[in-house]
Amino acid sequence: MTERTAYRVGLIGADIQLSKSPALHMREGRAHGLDYVYELVDISARNVPESALPDLLSELEERGFAGTNITHPFKQAVIPHLDDLSEDARMLGAVNTVVFSDGKRIGHNTDWYGFHESFERGLPGARRERALLVGAGGAGVAVAHAALKLGIARLDIYDQDPARAGRLAADLNGRFGEGRAAVAEAPAAVLPEADGLIHATPVGMPAHPGMPVAADLIEPRHWVADIVYMPLITQLIATAAAKGCRTLPGGGMAIFQAVGAFRLFCGREPDAERMSAHFAEMFNAEAAA
Ligand code: NAD
Repeated sequence: MTERTAYRVGLIGADIQLSKSPALHMREGRAHGLDYVYELVDISARNVPESALPDLLSELEERGFAGTNITHPFKQAVIPHLDDLSEDARMLGAVNTVVFSDGKRIGHNTDWYGFHESFERGLPGARRERALLVGAGGAGVAVAHAALKLGIARLDIYDQDPARAGRLAADLNGRFGEGRAAVAEAPAAVLPEADGLIHATPVGMPAHPGMPVAADLIEPRHWVADIVYMPLITQLIATAAAKGCRTLPGGGMAIFQAVGAFRLFCGREPDAERMSAHFAEMFNAEAAA
């Protein structure tokens, strides 16, 4: 049997025209000698409603796609349209990668892996006794799972919607053991005792400018990880770096979720260093423009 060398994959979501995923995947595909095409399937650009999701999945399957990434607002909504889920996706209740194989649609989650890898590489040796997570939405759930896998002994979770923080803390305690996660009433109640801060809300993006916690709560001994990566250096990361904190911008998570998805789509081991360098090159080119 000849080896497959042509792959067509997608990203289904809303307002995704600025996504770096097509460039990131396609250049890596070329480096492997593949005919690898990554197509944006943007419901905003196509002007179709969210209810079009099942038709979009069928369309990509019929066109012979190997799979598709899934982003906002479909990471949970896609689940009823799949045949099976990986253990991670089932546990997190969210899917960011669907593989089409032998007529079946299998959902995976590479977001948590993305944060895990990024943290291991970007903050080696960071103290992990206690950390504050701000944001318990779709991304926060994946990041919280990664945080406990990383060995953070206790994760306090703050969300402006306390019920979300409560659900996530209960899930984590069920999965990792009682006492590993708790709801924080406010960042100020936890940060003085915490080693680090993980930020997982949209605050810091152009549409949501500002800081997710008051600047004076951040101390030089804290490490600070943001998952927002547009812009790459958020106000939170800039403020923390200026105070002398160790910082982890959100780009690493974006790169490593793509590393995981590439591996699932074509079964080849991507070169994470090469993808990281390409990602940095794209942002540097934008900054210089
Ligand atoms: P979401 O809408 O599902 O969840 C956001 C959560 O933050 C909600 O629970 C909301 O109540 C809470 N929140 C919002 N503003 C808050 C505030 N000021 N204080 C406390 N809580 C607040 O969004 P999501 O899918 O979880 O994504 C969040 C952000 O993560 C996105 O904007 C994106 O920038 C980033 N993200 C990055 C990556 C990556 O690979 N680096 C991946 C996914 C998402």
